[in-house]
Amino acid sequence: MSDPAYEYWPRVQQAIQATAVSRADAEWQWPRCHKRGCQQDHGDIAFVLNMFAKAVEETVRTEMLCAAISEPDIGEPS
Ligand SMILES: [Zn+2]
Repeated sequence: MSDPAYEYWPRVQQAIQATAVSRADAEWQWPRCHKRGCQQDHGDIAFVLNMFAKAVEETVRTEMLCAAISEPDIGEPS
C-alpha cells in the first residue's frame, strides 16, 4: 500500500540527485591538516556529502511511500 504522494517520488528523487554543494563552500568548513609531510588519510568531503545525499534520498522516499516520518507507526493499536 503506498501513499498517493509517492507518485511524485521520481521528480523528488531527481531534485535530490541534482542537488550539489560547491566543494569550495564545503571545504571552508572542513578541518584541514597542516602537519608537514603528513601521510594520513583525512577523508574526502565529497564522499561524506554523497553519503548524506543518499541518506536524505532514503528518508524522503520512505516518507513519500507511507508517511513513515510524519506519521510513524509506534506499534499501538489505533
Ligand atoms: Zn594530516
